[in-house]
Amino acid sequence: MTPQEEQLAKEASKLFSGRVEFLLSAPQLKHLPEPDYPEIAFCGRSNVGKSSLINALVQRKAIARTSVTPGRTQELNFFEVGDPTQFRLVDMPGYGFAKAPLKVVEKWRSLVQTFLRGRVPLKRTMLLVDSRHGLKDSDRDMMKMLDETAVGYRIVLTKADKIKASALDAVRAKVETEARKHPAAYPQLHVTSSEKGMGLEELRAAILSDIRD
Ligand code: GDP
Repeated sequence: MTPQEEQLAKEASKLFSGRVEFLLSAPQLKHLPEPDYPEIAFCGRSNVGKSSLINALVQRKAIARTSVTPGRTQELNFFEVGDPTQFRLVDMPGYGFAKAPLKVVEKWRSLVQTFLRGRVPLKRTMLLVDSRHGLKDSDRDMMKMLDETAVGYRIVLTKADKIKASALDAVRAKVETEARKHPAAYPQLHVTSSEKGMGLEELRAAILSDIRD
């Protein structure tokens, strides 16, 4: 790490372990908060480990609620970080759930797409992908949607503790190859485990640098 990177990691760690508060839940765009602070959004398939990752990043047990029924939560949840507030984390509704009624899928798409396209303070999106599964077609659809917005995204592999190092390397290489074909995707992945704390320090620092970008 360079001295600048070390400084960034230190600041990020301090920020994420300080004030984090749930702000509001927006089931529709009219409920969005004022665009007062930079935002970082998190998206991924249902059950990818999104709530666990947000909780682990902010070192809280249950600020983001782990979903009981996959695909049930259809809101954008906003959290404020810092005292005074420095930025917001946006927990986006999961996708890819089997057997969801068309109406639910359409509502999801309209909410997510309109948010991503029009949200001025949105700095970056984190696309979470399960280490065991790699990219699924629903992730590819999401990447297409993200490519169409002006916002860059980082791909974050989750639950890395659940697979062997050799299998992880293979998935990582495959996802990286595909990511390179997407102009808005960062070519380098983040590999994380909320359970073991793997990759969290680096991701916090990356988020802080995104905020300051
Ligand atoms: P969400 O639906 O994307 O919010 O996913 P959750 O955070 O609710 O996680 C789904 C399931 O995966 C839960 O049973 C979690 O305990 C589990 N999980 C999440 N992250 C990890 C991880 O890093 N390692 C392991 N082993 N399990 C995880």
